Amino acid sequence: MSKAKILDGKKIAADLRLQMKAQVDAMDEPPILAVVMVGENEASRIYVRNKQKAAAEIGIICQVYEFSDSIGENALLQSLDELNENHHIHGIIVQQPLPPHLNAQNILRHISPSKDVDGFGLYNSGKLMSGENGGLAAATPKGILRLLEETKEPLSGKLAVVIGRSQIVGRPLAQMLLNMDCTVLIAHSKTKNLKELTKQADIVVAACGQPQMVKGDWVKDGAIVIDVGINRKEDGKLCGDTVFDELSEKVSWITPVPGGVGPMTVAMLLENTIYAALHAEKCCCHCGH
Ligand code: NAD
Repeated sequence: MSKAKILDGKKIAADLRLQMKAQVDAMDEPPILAVVMVGENEASRIYVRNKQKAAAEIGIICQVYEFSDSIGENALLQSLDELNENHHIHGIIVQQPLPPHLNAQNILRHISPSKDVDGFGLYNSGKLMSGENGGLAAATPKGILRLLEETKEPLSGKLAVVIGRSQIVGRPLAQMLLNMDCTVLIAHSKTKNLKELTKQADIVVAACGQPQMVKGDWVKDGAIVIDVGINRKEDGKLCGDTVFDELSEKVSWITPVPGGVGPMTVAMLLENTIYAALHAEKCCCHCGH
């Protein structure tokens, strides 16, 4: 029998969407999110469709800008300039992965900080580094922090092991946890004796994209486990980076896959878009925006 309490991201995100809908209904104009897609990628198309659906549900307009995978970097940067300057657009995201001839860092850094609703640009990641968790911070880590809030456990002083150091999950999350006074250890593919480290942790976040790597004997009794991984098993079913059945026997809180971190990521992107719209500079061309 499962001992762990489930951090139900699907439900928490649905509640958040209801609150956000009321917030958007009360705004003079709906927030507009621009999603830039380059080339053809089936997974990206599904992610973008999900974002559009979730946005529409709460009254955010999501406009998709599609470019051929032969577009050059300068042309794409120029299109981003136009979106940056367009006062009708409040948030911009560039769907990844980008084709290999494009430098993703250059492109993400080109988004205006006030419209950078993924929080991957230098300004917003720098803000996080300087100790501020608020504003336009990366959506997946932000969603994880919300899930941790749900446990009502104080984070201060807890030992957190974050497995994975990517720019979209591991690094920003580690910084957010540090900003919440956790003692943070970032593990990655070169880390030695990982299991010895996770066994000491109060919080284990698995964000390494390794199917079911974290097993029951990798964690201590009563730990909190957040599973970010989304992996497809040979039988076609989804699984995370942890073995849910083993861990839920001994930990205090755990996220399921699917239905844990994933829905929170989309909710936090919408929250960031509303934030960007509420903090947007007003247009001075007398068009009313
Ligand atoms: P990534 O491939 O960019 O990074 C993976 C990280 O894991 C790297 O830092 C790597 O060093 C580390 N790693 C790999 N193998 C390891 C090992 N054996 N031991 C320890 N560390 C190891 O991945 P990402 O974009 O950060 O995504 C990680 C996982 O989270 C993927 O499964 C991805 O699909 C999923 N993801 C889910 C969401 C969501 O909303 N649920 C969002 C983003 C990513």
